Amino acid sequence: MDWILKENIEELKKMVLKEGWLAETLFNQSMNSLKERDEKSAKNVLGRKNEINIIDMKIREKALAILSTMMPMSKDLRTVTGSFLISSYYQIISEKSLEIAKKTLELIKEPQLKPLVTIPEMAKYALIMLRESMRMFADQNMNGAENICERDQEIDDFLEEVRNELMIYMMENTKYVKRALILLEIAQNIEEIADQATRIAETTSYIISGKQYRCFNDKLYTIDSLENNKEENS
Ligand code: FE
Repeated sequence: MDWILKENIEELKKMVLKEGWLAETLFNQSMNSLKERDEKSAKNVLGRKNEINIIDMKIREKALAILSTMMPMSKDLRTVTGSFLISSYYQIISEKSLEIAKKTLELIKEPQLKPLVTIPEMAKYALIMLRESMRMFADQNMNGAENICERDQEIDDFLEEVRNELMIYMMENTKYVKRALILLEIAQNIEEIADQATRIAETTSYIISGKQYRCFNDKLYTIDSLENNKEENS
């Protein structure tokens, strides 16, 4: 019985990684469409919505089958419940990537507002976070969680920078407002994608250790350390 459970959990993990790989591909491709102003590529991203739904449903089915028939315990149980959570984070990343593709299509109907510098740089950071969190889950290794958490703060700083840059355009000429707003929304999507990478790192840390972790400001806390921190601050 035990080996059947182990085998099923390995299959579940593989499915989650496959979903992660899909989410990463969609994010990467939507960003490339934006950079290259490539309509075909953006439409291709939008055409893959069904793929995400199918893999998400299969993961739910698998996880529920394990829970209802194999009674996993301790780390096995955490892997199943954690996979549920991580799968929903990948679903969000995929949806945000589709939104970036949709906004790219809107944006390229009009002339380029400005050469993109900060947004691609921000996306590069988010992609590193995503890869690192996926590696944590694949290797079941907690190393890297702190790094991801620190980077989350850098992403927030990037968003602020993009906001300030675009504000200047909007104030310069009302003609620029629409395009600037679309770019700002894209930057917000990237920030939300990076947030999901942080959630994946937190959830993977939970699967491995059995402890809850939360990235707060740019540091990773357990419940105890967060409570101590509260006392220090008060
Ligand atoms: Fe954030």
